[in-house]
Amino acid sequence: MEIVFATGNKDKMREIRQILGGLNADIKSMKEAGVDVDIVEDGTTFEENALIKAREVSKLCKDSIVLADDSGLEIDFLNKEPGIYSARYLGRDTSYTEKNTIILEKLNGVPDEKRSARFVCAIAACLPDGRELVVRGTMEGQIGYEIAGENGFGYDPIFFLPEYGKTSAELLPEEKNAVSHRGKALRMMEEKLREAINA
Ligand code: IMP
Repeated sequence: MEIVFATGNKDKMREIRQILGGLNADIKSMKEAGVDVDIVEDGTTFEENALIKAREVSKLCKDSIVLADDSGLEIDFLNKEPGIYSARYLGRDTSYTEKNTIILEKLNGVPDEKRSARFVCAIAACLPDGRELVVRGTMEGQIGYEIAGENGFGYDPIFFLPEYGKTSAELLPEEKNAVSHRGKALRMMEEKLREAINA
C-alpha cells in the first residue's frame, strides 16, 4: 500500500514517517509521488481545508491513500485568530519574528487567564475506494510574554506550555511530537487507517 502525504515540507514528512512507520506502507511526499498541483484552500475550517487538499491530490493518485493536513494557531483573546489564516496572517512575507512581536503587542496588558490559545491540526485521508477519514488534534497553551526558544517554527516561540514552564520552541523535537497537535492527529489517523485497511 502506498500513502501519499500532500505536503512539500521536509520536517512534516520526517514526523509523518516516524508516526506512520508501523503501517507497513510506502510513505511518499507529493514530490516523491511525482505530483505537483497548486491547491486553493478556500474552506472555512481546518477539516475542510485538509479535505480539499486530500481530494485534489487523490484525483491524481487514485491507487494510493492520500493524506493532507491543515493546521494553525487559535488565540482566544483575538477571536481565535489567526486560525485557518495562520500562514497568511499579517502577510505571507512577514517574518515570524515580526508576526510574533505584533501578537505580543496585541496582548499587551492581557492577564494570564485571558491568554489561552491552542494549536490545531486536522488530517484528512482519501482512500482508493472513496472512503474519507478526518481527525483533529489540539495542543492547549497560552500566549507567553516574550519570544523564547530556537526549536520548532512559526508561532512556537510565543506558545507557552504552563505544564512545562517553557514555550513549544524550547521543547526538543521528540518532546513536542509527543504532545503536539500534529503528533496527536497523526497517531489518531494511524489508528483509523489501521482499522480501515484491515476492514
Ligand atoms: P500549514 O498547516 O502547513 O498550512 O501551516 C499553517 C501555519 O500554522 C504554519 O505556517 C504556522 O504559521 C502555523 N503552525 C502550524 N503548526 C505549527 C506549529 O507546530 N508550530 C508553530 N506554528 C505552527
